[in-house]
Amino acid sequence: MDGATPVTTAPAVLILLGPPGAGKGTQARMLEEKFGLVQLSTGDLLRAAVAAGTPAGKQAKAVMEAGQLVSDQIVIDILRDRLAEPDCCRGVILDGFPRTTVQAQALDDLLSETGQKINAAISLAVDDAAMVTRIAGRYTCAGCGEGYHDQFKQPAQEGTCDKCGGTEMSRRADDNAETVASRLEAYHAQTAPLIAYYDATGVLQAIDAMGAIDTIAADMAAIVKRTIS
Ligand SMILES: [Zn+2]
Repeated sequence: MDGATPVTTAPAVLILLGPPGAGKGTQARMLEEKFGLVQLSTGDLLRAAVAAGTPAGKQAKAVMEAGQLVSDQIVIDILRDRLAEPDCCRGVILDGFPRTTVQAQALDDLLSETGQKINAAISLAVDDAAMVTRIAGRYTCAGCGEGYHDQFKQPAQEGTCDKCGGTEMSRRADDNAETVASRLEAYHAQTAPLIAYYDATGVLQAIDAMGAIDTIAADMAAIVKRTIS
């Protein structure tokens, strides 16, 4: 980073929306590297605040120890603290927050306090049927971990690993078609109101997340360039 260049605009806030398996993690890392942004997931935020023993972190700890859910207000307080840290000076990518329109409203209130705004809510759009095929067809060699796919990448000799010659293949139990389909359904049910919310506030940007990783990355970078300024 060029330390001589003053940061004249408020740190950017990007929200990443996408179902499990859509490549959110990979894309967030790309944005971190390319634009100097920091990815913030709710779990990481909570853990860090609890470990640091901030006032909001202490509240979160007490609530979690009591076996209760951390309230939106505590998460917002933790986020407020985190956004003020120097590494967030260029901006952040929020992953997993907000999850509800109530949280989205609370986030908007927080950002109006800090003089920031949501630059873009990027929705990774997937084709459900294709996602089921993609995820449910995955399996790996138990010996060396090489990845295969029922349709897209079969070993040269059926049932034998190309890399190590092993014959034991394993599938993740939760990668079956039914589980993947219900995971997607739950995602859409939970996210539809948020998508409507950000569409209404004019920051929604949808990206086709079924293409090549590089193409998705280029689409994301174009959105960030266009909306951070
Ligand atoms: Zn192998």
